[in-house]
Amino acid sequence: MTTEFEFELQVCQWAEHHWVPSTERERSVIVARQLGTKHRRWDTLVIECDPKGLAARAHFGPKRLDSDLLHVVRNAPEEWQWYRDALPEPAYPWRYVREAVHRAADRGVIERRRGDNGRIELRRRWNYPEWVERIIAIENKPDLDASAARDLRPQLETDVALGLADEVWVATRETSDAIAPVLLEDIPVEAGILMVSEGSRGASAVDVAWQPRTLDVDGVGTRILERPGSNEFDSSACRFEYVDVDWKQERRLAIAERAYERGWRSYLDSMRPDCRHFELDGDTAVARPFCRAKETHQTQRECAHSCPAFEPEPPAWRQRGWPIEGGPGKTIKRLLSRQRERVR
Ligand code: SF4
Repeated sequence: MTTEFEFELQVCQWAEHHWVPSTERERSVIVARQLGTKHRRWDTLVIECDPKGLAARAHFGPKRLDSDLLHVVRNAPEEWQWYRDALPEPAYPWRYVREAVHRAADRGVIERRRGDNGRIELRRRWNYPEWVERIIAIENKPDLDASAARDLRPQLETDVALGLADEVWVATRETSDAIAPVLLEDIPVEAGILMVSEGSRGASAVDVAWQPRTLDVDGVGTRILERPGSNEFDSSACRFEYVDVDWKQERRLAIAERAYERGWRSYLDSMRPDCRHFELDGDTAVARPFCRAKETHQTQRECAHSCPAFEPEPPAWRQRGWPIEGGPGKTIKRLLSRQRERVR
């Protein structure tokens, strides 16, 4: 039985190789997991990128640019200028902008100097590119029964109303039923449905069971704050607020920047690849952790400092081709980090 974590990695791995589904179209994509906003976190995110823009984004380094840094790098002038003249008036005090200018300069993404009158001046090094084309949100529900679908419906309705992602999908496990049960459930018609089945050595086959509608990311969104309960006697009104387009655009870019930094392989940061039982199982993309001691694909929660079966890598392993820089655990981390780099 596939765990939700394992299923999630399966979907990420598939999306990295095969997005967009059901087409021959080739896209540059960044795939990330467990990202979103303060109010909503998605299981899998696919950022469709402009290839040239993505290449140009690399100038700014592998770490994300947060919204303060984006404010600076996107508005940095071509010629030296005092930062208060060069940058648009912020909605917060200027001292935070000054701090962001220093941070940006320390990271090498802009140039900074002290002008003749002692003022901080800045100049751009590169144009910040338009690299994000579309954002796709996927909710993973391997076992989508009627009650899971009922729970999912309000979340998907919220996503559709807000229109922060261009498309919203549900990924679920393929079943042998002639008509997939998920299609009979109460999923909003705007959400697409992916049916995932497992092939050999962890490779996944995915079919599109329902195409999503493209959401209006350039329009005003609606954030649902409260909805009436499912009780038939509950006649309370739905509470909502509007969300302006600027907020949405800013959030989208911030989400894409975080996805750029983290990718989907960062799960290893919270696991124990330095355990002697830790292995990576899967096809050439090397996706899923496997525990030899438990003979299973372990979850992040199981594979933690508290795991009673943890055993450190024997020191001898470190002398078998793993000198100086640590044992296989570190090598696995390096390998995944190299894969992350290649995707970028
Ligand atoms: S024994 Fe525990 S710590 Fe070691 S790989 Fe298995 S789950 Fe992870």
